[in-house]
Amino acid sequence: MIRYDYVRAQTLPAAATAAAQDGAKVIAGGTNLVDLLKYDVERPAHLVDINRIAGLDGIEATTSGGLRIGALVTNSDVAYSAEVEQRYPLLSSTILNGATPQLRNAATTGGNLLQRTRCYYFYDTATACNKRAPGSGCDAIGGVNRIHAVLGASPSCIATHPSDMCVALAALEAVVHVTGPQGERSIAFADFHRLPGETPERDTTLEPGEIVTAVELPEQGFSTHYTYLKLRDRLSYAFALVSVAVGMELDGGTVKCVRIALGGVAHKPWRVPEAEALLEGQAPGEDVFRKVAARLMQGAVGQGHNDFKIALATKAIIRALQQAAAGTPQSVSDKRIA
Ligand code: SF4
Repeated sequence: MIRYDYVRAQTLPAAATAAAQDGAKVIAGGTNLVDLLKYDVERPAHLVDINRIAGLDGIEATTSGGLRIGALVTNSDVAYSAEVEQRYPLLSSTILNGATPQLRNAATTGGNLLQRTRCYYFYDTATACNKRAPGSGCDAIGGVNRIHAVLGASPSCIATHPSDMCVALAALEAVVHVTGPQGERSIAFADFHRLPGETPERDTTLEPGEIVTAVELPEQGFSTHYTYLKLRDRLSYAFALVSVAVGMELDGGTVKCVRIALGGVAHKPWRVPEAEALLEGQAPGEDVFRKVAARLMQGAVGQGHNDFKIALATKAIIRALQQAAAGTPQSVSDKRIA
């Protein structure tokens, strides 16, 4: 049995103070954390429940023309928000490609960002895992690593980030608002999640006691030319082996702006601005799409079982760019790759 204090915070300062204690964990929807408690992976000394804090459950327009989504807004409420569906359909699409309706009804926006990897070894306390037990090793390296990273991995950890929603948030260049013992701050989405390096136990750049309060979307929503292509072992309730989010703005016959983020291939949503720059100012077409894919996958290294991801991701990027350029987002059922 795990013994811990349960604190139901009523205000953000109280939550931040409680969350800054050694061994504290914050709980909202609990769709990942409760599993981790059951598997004995997380053994908190203090569990800080933020569900009763007022003001974190709304979606509202910002003065800069964007949208602010409170940390406690459920994944379902984001995906089915009329504003999100119309202005940021890429975000709706990624959320609805993830988990199940039941999980999406409980999972929160903040929690989605903070979910842990689904590496098998991370959940098995009989194995070596630097993310769960720093310094213990990594049994995924040389082990069963079909779902693991091909980009940005380290000798300490080859895990991937499991979120679909975060792949869209990376492409949309969202901003994460947090509050903590030192006050409020904003973190660019690209800087929120970390690569594993030598400290894979840290998934994000949050400091102790910092709590996600909102995710802000900028004005540009790519509502006309976008797609989310997710490739997985079955059509629902499965994490991405490879996924690609694309938002594209066309001006006449050329690409004015494009954002591409990959899921299932790295410890964080993977973006390469230099790859996007190859496409900007160009007419969309397969030749340039291939160059973009090659640049995005530059440096990819397989671990054995996951070698297939490199070719799969390359094809998926090309396919996703074709879909976004044509303005025909992927159907939920048609997964063919040209
Ligand atoms: Fe742990 Fe990362 Fe290795 Fe998986 S890949 S066993 S999460 S250290």
